[in-house]
Amino acid sequence: MSLMDDIKKQLGFFGGFTLTTRQLTRPRVTWSYPDVKKPKQPRQHGRHVLNRYEDGMEKCIGCELCAGVCPADCIHVRGLDNPPDHPVSPGERYGYIYEINYLRCIHCDLCVEACPTEAITESKLFEFSFTNRADAIYTKAELVVDDNGMPQKLPWEDWREGDDLMTSGWMRATSPAGDAAFEGEVAWSPELGYGTRAPEGGQSEHRDDEETGSKELRDVLERHLLTEDIPKAHRGMRGRVWRLRNSTAMHKKKLDAALARYKAKKATHE
Ligand code: SF4
Ligand code: SF4
Repeated sequence: MSLMDDIKKQLGFFGGFTLTTRQLTRPRVTWSYPDVKKPKQPRQHGRHVLNRYEDGMEKCIGCELCAGVCPADCIHVRGLDNPPDHPVSPGERYGYIYEINYLRCIHCDLCVEACPTEAITESKLFEFSFTNRADAIYTKAELVVDDNGMPQKLPWEDWREGDDLMTSGWMRATSPAGDAAFEGEVAWSPELGYGTRAPEGGQSEHRDDEETGSKELRDVLERHLLTEDIPKAHRGMRGRVWRLRNSTAMHKKKLDAALARYKAKKATHE
């Protein structure tokens, strides 16, 4: 056996690292959940909100249609005549009692579909859990949006950036049956803090994804797409640099959050 053969034999075990080394340069398919979360789809069905009109009045008229349609029987609504001197909603009646039991809700959104005034819609928040039954039953006090039209945030809810925006994006999807005549047709009322929300892009016209919060499927699922379906800027060395930048920004954000938590904890002990 020559010296070269001997060296090759001695170093042969490096071959065992080929697969590992190859994986090092590939994009990871896992996420550090819950510190890092995948972007949520604009039509995500999450925790409900009760919307208000631009003048602050509540949209709910206490008709109980949402409660009637709910397959899990988890909504309890009672309507009451509006007090003439300080009406709560523009209609004759308003939702006096409104409760959703989240131990039962399956987030099917049938309540959202049934509602004639777009009073009940859903945010993107689905990461919330409870330690007692009382917390799981959300009342009007928790469900009605605040004075800026934003969902209220409870201590046990894990809200992330964007979860409270574009509540129930799918409500604004037009031409659901594929009829181009309904594309872009606004059939919903304005909302507190937002005005009249823009419709989702149709199938044949320009999509304003920025305005409506829509996401291309590739934005969410790129790591599962075929190479030819991935934008050139995200492939090869350029893609690695792009991913490195993204992950650096993500880790910096995580570090900043950890530092802020540490400082807050330190401050409470002083
Ligand atoms: S999302 Fe479905 S299960 Fe949940 S409250 Fe609405 S209708 Fe009921
Ligand atoms: S949320 Fe809508 S469907 Fe439910 S009681 Fe109020 S107005 Fe009626």
